Amino acid sequence: MPNVDRRRALGLLAAGAAGVAAAAAPELWHAGPARSASADGRHGGGGGGGHGKAPAAPPDPGYAHGKPMQALHKPVRSLYDLAPAAPPNAVALTIDDGPHPKYTPMMLDLLAAHGVKATFNMIGEQVVEQPRIVQRIVADGHQIADHTVTHPLNLPALSTARISKEIGEAHDQIAQTGGVAPRFFRSPGGNWSQAVFDVADQHRLICVDWKIDPRDWSRPGISKITSAMLRAQPGDILLCHDGGGDRTQTIDALKTVLPQLKKRGLQFVAL
Ligand SMILES: [Zn+2]
Repeated sequence: MPNVDRRRALGLLAAGAAGVAAAAAPELWHAGPARSASADGRHGGGGGGGHGKAPAAPPDPGYAHGKPMQALHKPVRSLYDLAPAAPPNAVALTIDDGPHPKYTPMMLDLLAAHGVKATFNMIGEQVVEQPRIVQRIVADGHQIADHTVTHPLNLPALSTARISKEIGEAHDQIAQTGGVAPRFFRSPGGNWSQAVFDVADQHRLICVDWKIDPRDWSRPGISKITSAMLRAQPGDILLCHDGGGDRTQTIDALKTVLPQLKKRGLQFVAL
């Protein structure tokens, strides 16, 4: 099983690199609740600093270093499903179906301007096409996650071998391109099955769904996206998209949503 060996080696490499980085800068990255407040300052002037450089050993940006608290029979839908407990008033923005050559950089600029860390659920075949954008996502301190190689909406209906290929190859593409092995997985369309959970678990991936869905992929208008996302409550996982079509409405909505939710005292965390 050379694929499994290679994957394990990649995972170990990535874990080793992350461990070294975490040991070098534990205070900065485990500060937890202080992160959001200080992120504004950190990003104020130098948000564009490291773009284009391949990150050497980026630290894990997320707070959820532990295991899902529930059994491996359903996806995580709330930050309270993850251990350790999310910071109070935390929400997680998850951004799916990128990387996209136009909309992902726009999204990254917007997140940097608001000091928001997010989680990007990336499609493997696009990861291979946009390596520099993947590296920028990592360098900007966001979490990266597996969203299959080709985004089949019928993933649960496929054979276990195909499910394994979709999840496993995307895992490797992301690890090789970004320099960090993903630890989270979202199934296309939120379509799950026990076989999908089992394969994800084989790759040590935590399955993550969402709570707040503005259906931005259908381009319902900026105000509809905005009002749906403003319903977010502490612990909620929010869904939006940077790929799959024209995402101008999504980005325009987030220009209102990000500062409004922060003003309400909600703190954005990467998974
Ligand atoms: Zn998707």
